[in-house]
Amino acid sequence: MTERKTTPTATQGTNEPRRARQVSAAPPVERVPRARATGAGKRRNGKARDADLVVIGGGSGGVACARRAAAHGARVILVERDAIGGTCVNRGCVPKKMLSYGASWAAILSGCLSHTGGHEDWRDAIVRVNAEVARLNAGYTQRLHESGVEILRGDARVTAPDEVRVGDETIHARRILIATGARPRPLDVPGGELAASSDDVFTWQTVPASVAVIGGGYIGVEQASILSRYGVKVDLIVAGDRLLRHFDHEIGAALAEALTARGVRLHLNAEVHLLSQANGAVEVCYRPTDRPGQTEAVRAQAALAAIGRISNVQGLGLEELGVAFGDKGGIHVDKQYRSSVRKIYAVGDATDGLQLTPVATAQGRWLADRLYGRRGERADFDFVPTAVFSEPAIGAVGMTEAQAIADAGKPERIRTVVKRFVSLENRFGGTPYQSVFKLVLNARSGRVLGVHLMDNAAPEIVQALAVALRLGVRESHLQTTVQLHPTVAEELFG
Ligand code: NDP
Repeated sequence: MTERKTTPTATQGTNEPRRARQVSAAPPVERVPRARATGAGKRRNGKARDADLVVIGGGSGGVACARRAAAHGARVILVERDAIGGTCVNRGCVPKKMLSYGASWAAILSGCLSHTGGHEDWRDAIVRVNAEVARLNAGYTQRLHESGVEILRGDARVTAPDEVRVGDETIHARRILIATGARPRPLDVPGGELAASSDDVFTWQTVPASVAVIGGGYIGVEQASILSRYGVKVDLIVAGDRLLRHFDHEIGAALAEALTARGVRLHLNAEVHLLSQANGAVEVCYRPTDRPGQTEAVRAQAALAAIGRISNVQGLGLEELGVAFGDKGGIHVDKQYRSSVRKIYAVGDATDGLQLTPVATAQGRWLADRLYGRRGERADFDFVPTAVFSEPAIGAVGMTEAQAIADAGKPERIRTVVKRFVSLENRFGGTPYQSVFKLVLNARSGRVLGVHLMDNAAPEIVQALAVALRLGVRESHLQTTVQLHPTVAEELFG
């Protein structure tokens, strides 16, 4: 089975389609076997054909749903105009995590092994990242073929609740899934277009000497941390009074200290109102909200805006069909991921829900099971573990202290345990950097309501602890579980 490109329509989205990366290291593309018969109608240019499910978008949610639905015997066509794998593979989790590894190893090398010439090298890191992304693109495509999903290249437009047009092709679909993901929110101030987005970072062949990062959320913090470890002078400009506003306040404060100690210059309470260009530099002007009437400016070789992501739902024809949207602009769906139009479903970043890859994947699989197989067990979206891959990393699951107090109604119903310590990793590196653990507990029962960690091991620890929290773990269980020594995790136990 081959992929086919159809003529893009001028109607979908405003972004230029992005191409799979060109890589200097040849990706290990395995042989794509001949697909088994899919049952999806044969392609006939300009003619209509049928499918049980048309999935628009080949990212985490779309691929998960398409493969699972095909495994249940549904005739599935997946439409994608760009590289298969979506944001996570191409412009998000995977390339970011690899850059972060590169930065950490470079820091260890230059700190401990300076005599061997260890140093950070962005150019080399990007080659490695691109090779891995290309490998994943090929792997995703191959697995879709093997599952019997037909891939159609081009821009899709939903022309009726049961009809999708891609170029000059019309597909009659019993159901349609919108899994088109999200894109960086543009900075809406004069000169805002001078700021790069997180997508652009992965195309940089070299790093600027200095970058002004705007935004104190996941991406702003991660990129500030990664870039500074690649030797870039970083100013992090944050609208609010702390980093990571949706995380526990003590973790946000601890991370601010940690980033500052590692050389990132923090500007809190900073309302960016103007970007301008002069002598090859970008000037980011902001008003300090705690000092009315004043203006400050940061000059850097480049600016990077990371101020949230907006759902890719424009230009698909959804408004015309009466699909309802939520407050954040994503498609409004019910618990079955059904939009306000009966045959149209949506998962992942295209909806107003949590913008996390594993959430999209779980939603896509569950939907395919419900529509074409046995009703599967729904993933638990009350305890979604999450991580920020900064240095040090953050991991969290469950409620923050503030959320727990709001939920319980009175502060005295909630107790917290906070520990600060220097990990063996940092002792070996000769640095005084502290790790922080925080447990949020029901004061009476000792039930653990939230775990918040700042340490490079945090993401791995939090993934495992998410199971314990779902099962109702109490502080006493942690205290009577034998610790594994020497680990970072043992600080939570005993
Ligand atoms: P976030 O929502 O995490 O953070 C946006 C930040 O930008 C906030 O600090 C916000 O401030 C600030 N902001 C909003 N508008 C402006 C403005 N006009 N000027 C200045 N600052 C502004 O968005 P990100 O872009 O960082 O990430 C998008 C999503 O992608 C995340 O929510 C997350 O779900 C996902 N993601 C997950 C990752 C992971 O799992 N490790 C990694 C990367 C992304 P305030 O808080 O004060 O509103």
